[in-house]
Amino acid sequence: MNCKPIPTLDEHINDIRMRTAEIVNEEILPNEDRLWRSRQDGESMEHRREVLELRAAIKERVRRAGLWAPHLPKEYGGMGLDFLAHAYMNEVLAYAVGAASLFGVVAPNSGNQSILLKYGTEEQRRRWLVPLIEGTMESGFSMTEPETAGSDPRSLATTAARDGDEWVINGHKWFTSNGIDADFFIVMCRATDHGEDARAGEPMVQIIVPTATKGVEIVRGIGLFGQRESDHCEVRYDNVRVPIENALGKVGEGHQAAQDRLGAGRIYHCMNSVGQMWRAFDLMVERAGNREVHGGPLQEKQFVQGFIADSYVDIQAARLMTLHAAEKIDQGLAAARTDISAIKVFVPAAFTRVVDRAIQVWGAAGVSNDLPLSTMYLHARTLRIADGPDEVHRVLIAKNVLRQYASGVGWDFGN
Ligand SMILES: Cc1cc2nc3c(=O)[nH]c(=O)nc-3n(C[C@H](O)[C@H](O)[C@H](O)COP(=O)(O)OP(=O)(O)OC[C@H]3O[C@@H](n4cnc5c(N)ncnc54)[C@H](O)[C@@H]3O)c2cc1C
Repeated sequence: MNCKPIPTLDEHINDIRMRTAEIVNEEILPNEDRLWRSRQDGESMEHRREVLELRAAIKERVRRAGLWAPHLPKEYGGMGLDFLAHAYMNEVLAYAVGAASLFGVVAPNSGNQSILLKYGTEEQRRRWLVPLIEGTMESGFSMTEPETAGSDPRSLATTAARDGDEWVINGHKWFTSNGIDADFFIVMCRATDHGEDARAGEPMVQIIVPTATKGVEIVRGIGLFGQRESDHCEVRYDNVRVPIENALGKVGEGHQAAQDRLGAGRIYHCMNSVGQMWRAFDLMVERAGNREVHGGPLQEKQFVQGFIADSYVDIQAARLMTLHAAEKIDQGLAAARTDISAIKVFVPAAFTRVVDRAIQVWGAAGVSNDLPLSTMYLHARTLRIADGPDEVHRVLIAKNVLRQYASGVGWDFGN
């Protein structure tokens, strides 16, 4: 990866970018095959152990370099970066497939960390957040259900009823990511008997549920795009009992907490997508220069030049929109709602287009598992649905814009 300091950027952020690039170039890219591709191939126990050791060694180097968990405050072992600085760092680290987890900022853990920080009690942070940051625990976020529309979370049917000092949870979820490895889930429930602290009309509550609790059944890892199994799990909750203090925040705050979580999660996805787009772009341009076809290299064909130009435009637009949204989040999450939705619509679609062109330039090799492009493509396509489908975000953008005009102010074009 060719990464140089950006002349207009703060020296501190450039330093972070350069040190990140060093680890990506020296440790992750040369080992990318071993680290990620082997997961699909039913590897041996010995190989698995070797991969785990390699991952641990890279994480250790990341920590020693002070580059662990850019999104978390320093007192919790993170870098304490604001969103803008994180966005600049992230486009560098996400150049390598799956590198985000080696820098401690991977969904769904990163989103769960942000709500544990915002809504968690001291005890909840000690018990769940600290191990999550240290990497000794894994987590999932369990909101979407097969029988209700995930686009409309207020319709969800999973219930939590209060019985003495316990919540009793019943429901059916799916697409709970990281479900196979998770030690606990944050489960979005409808509180049916919630005591006195409920806010009327919004009885949603998020509850921390250890996956080993009786009644939690991981039914399956759902197969995606023809793959047999993924870590996006179908989960049943059958009379699952957890202590009342496992509620995260107050009853009635569940919906807001989910929005806060998803707001951060959405921009992390977009930051990762930008890094991956640069990678796909590099692969495309490299192949266009090397591959001889019909009397000359591909890069001399205008169709291919069109792919390169359109991809450059897509990446720069996605990148600048993401940096802009990051700046807005730093001014407060509420101020950034429209821009978070805007990047959530634009970036995954641009990501899909860029990878699609890179695949085309590579021909058959592009769809093979020999290159990271096919994995990127599947991931890019799912992002147009995960964390809210495009249509929901378009509706939100239009509502916010129209509300602003209805108030007689109009849109602030400089903002
Ligand atoms: C790879 C992946 C990982 C995921 N990880 C998680 C996770 O960890 N935890 C979790 O809880 N969920 C997760 N999800 C689920 C995801 O958040 C939901 O799939 C998403 O919110 C949409 O819900 P749904 O699938 O029920 O679609 P539905 O709500 O049934 O919507 C179907 C389609 O209807 C259209 N639509 C919806 N609303 C409107 C509207 N107002 N106007 C016009 N059209 C509309 C959209 O095209 C949408 O795609 C994941 C999904 C994927 C694909």
